[in-house]
Amino acid sequence: MATTWLIFCLGIVYSVQRAQSSGILPVKATHHNNSALHQVLEALAATYPNITRLYSIGKSYQGKELWVLEITKNPGRHIPGKPEFKYVANMHGNEVVGRELLLLFADYLCSNYGNNDRVTRLVDTTRIHLLPSMNPDGWESSNEGDCSSVRGRFNANGVDLNRNFPDPYDGQRNELQPETQAVMNWIHQEPFVLSANLHGGTLVVNYPFDNLPKELKRSGSRVYYSSPDDDIFVSIAKVYSKTHPTMHIGHPKCPIQRNERFADGITNGAAWYPISGGMQDYNYYKTNCFEITLELGCCKYPPALYIKPYWYANREPLLKYVELVHTTGMKGFVMDERGRPLEGARIIIENRAKKIKTSKDGDFWRLLVPGNYTVRVAKRKYKNTKLRVTVNPDQATVVNITLVSKSSRNLNRRRPVKTVSPVQVFIDKDERNVSFHSALAHRDRLRLSAKAPKKSASLKITPVAHTFLISLLVLFFQMMFIDN
Ligand SMILES: [Zn+2]
Repeated sequence: MATTWLIFCLGIVYSVQRAQSSGILPVKATHHNNSALHQVLEALAATYPNITRLYSIGKSYQGKELWVLEITKNPGRHIPGKPEFKYVANMHGNEVVGRELLLLFADYLCSNYGNNDRVTRLVDTTRIHLLPSMNPDGWESSNEGDCSSVRGRFNANGVDLNRNFPDPYDGQRNELQPETQAVMNWIHQEPFVLSANLHGGTLVVNYPFDNLPKELKRSGSRVYYSSPDDDIFVSIAKVYSKTHPTMHIGHPKCPIQRNERFADGITNGAAWYPISGGMQDYNYYKTNCFEITLELGCCKYPPALYIKPYWYANREPLLKYVELVHTTGMKGFVMDERGRPLEGARIIIENRAKKIKTSKDGDFWRLLVPGNYTVRVAKRKYKNTKLRVTVNPDQATVVNITLVSKSSRNLNRRRPVKTVSPVQVFIDKDERNVSFHSALAHRDRLRLSAKAPKKSASLKITPVAHTFLISLLVLFFQMMFIDN
């Protein structure tokens, strides 16, 4: 046993020395081809085994592994209460800045762990997943210095991966590609909270929705198609753009679109140009994960000497964006009366169609802007719970909820259960029938009928008006009978 342990330790020391002596680490601010990219990830995993795990989520069309580096203390599995975060880059094979930024970001997190308090805290408390290249096949046919063409954009089967996800309005246009399927499996497997998809071609943060219903598309004009969580998407998008030295100015001055402007350096996807089958909309529709798309600069494949300036411009925004999982909204656990985690309990914010579901450990994260919210927690066979939650800036509000089983013997059916303020127990029969999409469809109908003439307001008598009318009548009768 001791011999095995010694060989294992020597192996790690050898790997670390080899990574450093061969010049792989620290990561260079340059372009890495697919095998060099894999070598960097392997070197990081070998050098920092306590805080990393290298794994593949599947293969590309041509059979290349889609490598993900997980960075966290005690890697390998979801730890209850620890949020899951992801960055995905190089989905368009010729947009390579994000690919290099994620390698530099991985090295930055690993090499500063234990030395820098902020990085150490982030790595201790967050499970960060980095997929530097979602489209390694496309990368193979792209060219350094090619700022604007589409050569290398698609996967080896000629499909644009950011148009390949199932779309609620347009269905499935192309057959699901292996890269898309791999990412879909991944995002359903891990309870991701927050994410960003790194692209290039201009300088802006793009947030959901990217697509919109056909009726609205036909109008021909640009339509801001907001998600039910538009306020939080605007807020997190601004965190990135305003931390970036130039993105927030909102005038990228790219040669192709020199006059293009984005207020605060952010844009709603559909208001910019609608796309069907995008990844960020899929994340939001189908999972708990809120994803935005980062356009990192005008040139899709800039010469290598520009990687370092890109890194310095994006290092702080990348860090700050990850930190949002700890500073935004509310988080906690949903348990039963015996303290066992409840999976699939719905966290429902009043007047918002989007519902978050608890993971198998009963934990949840609900991103929200600061304010007061009425929150309902619902699960079949349990009595719903309703509570008021105040969300503060800078720190997520912790809310732990116990749901009472409908079949619980503790329930006295003749007398309502007394609950401790602010939690109130009630049953909402209609809740389970209101789906996310039907709520959105209702909103769209409202939007489409916005120009229809409004119905005349019906006369409503309030209790105050009622009292006033009664007083008038009494006065009238008094005048009639006393004066005459
Ligand atoms: Zn792109």
